[in-house]
Amino acid sequence: MIPGEPIFSKSTRVLHINQNNTLEVCRFAGEVIRRGELVAFPTETVYGLGADALNQQAVRNIFSAKERPADNPLIVHVSNTDEVKRVAKNTPKIAQVLMDAFWPGPLTLVLPRKNIVPDVTTGGLDTVAVRMPDHLAALELIREAGVPVAAPSANTSGKPSPTTAQHVMDDLGGRIDMIIDGGRVVIGVESTVIDVTGNIPVLLRPGGVGIEELQEIIGRIRVSTPEDVSIPRSPGVKYTHYSPEATVVLVTGDGVAGAIRKLAEEYEGKVGLLLCRETAETVGDMGEKIILGSRNDVESIARNLFYSLRLLDKQHVELIIADGSFSVEGVGLAAMNRLKKASSKLIHTG
Ligand code: AMP
Ligand code: MG
Repeated sequence: MIPGEPIFSKSTRVLHINQNNTLEVCRFAGEVIRRGELVAFPTETVYGLGADALNQQAVRNIFSAKERPADNPLIVHVSNTDEVKRVAKNTPKIAQVLMDAFWPGPLTLVLPRKNIVPDVTTGGLDTVAVRMPDHLAALELIREAGVPVAAPSANTSGKPSPTTAQHVMDDLGGRIDMIIDGGRVVIGVESTVIDVTGNIPVLLRPGGVGIEELQEIIGRIRVSTPEDVSIPRSPGVKYTHYSPEATVVLVTGDGVAGAIRKLAEEYEGKVGLLLCRETAETVGDMGEKIILGSRNDVESIARNLFYSLRLLDKQHVELIIADGSFSVEGVGLAAMNRLKKASSKLIHTG
């Protein structure tokens, strides 16, 4: 063994929750968090890997279990809006408006940080990202822990985010203390991240709350794009993300069906297709085919995306051809963003 290398030999307990035992399981898991250990738990977006956000060593253990780069800060989860005061120096008016409109829910606010939050949690930034999840078990767990809970997605860094407890086990089994199994998540992609520390709110990551919904409530929003160097960027956006074992090619434009068929026919290895229903109808029978949903049913596209990428990996597909013909309204923008990051090649058809 290399000195200083972490050894992962934990036995990871999986606790299934149902209508009758959720409170009891969360009370127990809350104690585990308070002791400084790691608990993966379901939220409405994806599974999170939770630790006491104020406990440096516990948070460090999140980074080593996930093999996450140390400068990629974590989202701190709270169980009510008052708890934001424990970690944020102040709450700008616009943040209050957004909390009232979208919490509990898939919206993360970047706020000025209090010093009680250790550097390891915020990646050394003077801001802290905060969210109140819309999930009974997640809220109970945070409440029972009695501390703000730092929780990134409960996957190995760079892999598709986990949407079931089994996905968490596949990546982090033996590395973490406990998994609360609450079944498959509802939204399937992560929260929207918005920075409200400046004069104009900046969208750092599209997610479960659509940009149109945000604009309806607060008006103008700047969108952080890789080209725009004048505005803050989420440190996490620079890392590779959401990549399955297979190579992913994303096909967009008006001629998706023909281009996908041609690519699949020409490829000599095992192919998996991630398709919208409308495209599937014209592509015909080939490869491992998964239908994400109808082009305009962006909720199903998002919900099935990470789940299907992991499913195709289990089927040992070598190339995934993904259909980008779905709408980018609402959570569709987040689904497209994740798919672009998962892809090593983008083909735009005329
Ligand atoms: P994850 O929880 O792994 O889905 O990722 C959390 C996302 O929130 C990453 O993209 C982080 O870079 C971003 N994030 C967390 N804290 C901050 C912060 N203080 N400022 C900007 N972005 C943040
Ligand atoms: Mg993540």
